Amino acid sequence: MFGKLSHFLRGRSRERKLEHYAIPDALWAHTVATLPFVQRYGAADLATLRELATLFIAEKEFSTAHALPLADEMVASVATQACVPILKLGIEWYRGWRGIVLYPGEFIIRRTVEDDIGLVHGVVEEASGEAWEHGPVILSWPDVQAPGAGAGAHHAHHAHPDDSYNVVIHEFAHKLDMLDGEPDGVPPFSRVLHPGVDREQWAETLLGEYDRFADACDRQSDHAWDHPERLPPALRVIDPYGCEAPSEFFAVASETFFVEPAGLRRHWPALYGALATFYRQDPAAM
Ligand SMILES: [Zn+2]
Repeated sequence: MFGKLSHFLRGRSRERKLEHYAIPDALWAHTVATLPFVQRYGAADLATLRELATLFIAEKEFSTAHALPLADEMVASVATQACVPILKLGIEWYRGWRGIVLYPGEFIIRRTVEDDIGLVHGVVEEASGEAWEHGPVILSWPDVQAPGAGAGAHHAHHAHPDDSYNVVIHEFAHKLDMLDGEPDGVPPFSRVLHPGVDREQWAETLLGEYDRFADACDRQSDHAWDHPERLPPALRVIDPYGCEAPSEFFAVASETFFVEPAGLRRHWPALYGALATFYRQDPAAM
C-alpha cells in the first residue's frame, strides 16, 4: 500500500495526504501494540502521532536493500517511531531529505577518521543505523523491530546496559541535530515553539552533561563494560556510545528520553530538562 509513492501528490494539501496515506485501524493498532514506549501517550497525542506518521509516509520514500521485501508494517513502524520526537515540533522538522532505506541486517559503513596527529585512516564498521546530512536515513530492520530489547548499540560493539535502545529515535535525533548543519549535539530552536530558550545556554547544559558522562565513562575500567549490571546506575541509563562525540550523546540521550524517561530524569535531571525543552515533551511525567 505504501510502497510506491506518487510524486504528483507532493505539494498537495495536508488533508489530501492524510486521506490518501491514512494508516488503516488494524495496522495502527498493531504498530502501537509493538511499541511499548508509544503506549504511554494519551488519546489526543496518539491521534496527532498517527497524523504525523501519515504525513511522514506521504512525504518520505521508503526502499529496501538486498531484496528485503517492503511491508506496510515496516513503513508504519518506522514512521510512527520517527514521529515521536517531532510530536510537539511538527513534520517540517524533517524537511530537506526524502529517503529511508531498510536493510535486512546490520550493514557496513566506510568512513575516514583523522587521528591526533592528523593522519587520516579508513574505518570499516558495522552499523544498525546511519543518517546522512541532506540524505537518507539507513536502518537495519531487525534492529528497528527490537526497540527496547537491547539488541545492540548504534555501532554494534557496545554492551547496552539498560533497554533504552532505539535505532529509529537515534538516527532521527541526528536528523534534527543536522537541520542547522553538521551534527554537534545542539539542534536548532524555533522562536515560535521555543520562546525564551537561550540556545547558548542550552548548548552549555548539554555539553556540560556530555563532559560529565564522558568523564564518568573514562573512570570505568575496560572490563567494567563486560558487566553492565555492575556499572553505577547513572551509567546504565545512557548508551556508552554517547561518549564518542556530543552529537552521539544527544542521539543516545534522546533514545533514553523517549524509551526510559524516568531513569534519565532520576540520574541526569539537567540533561532531561534540556531534552524536555527541545522536544517540548515530558515523557517521565506521563
Ligand atoms: Zn549515531
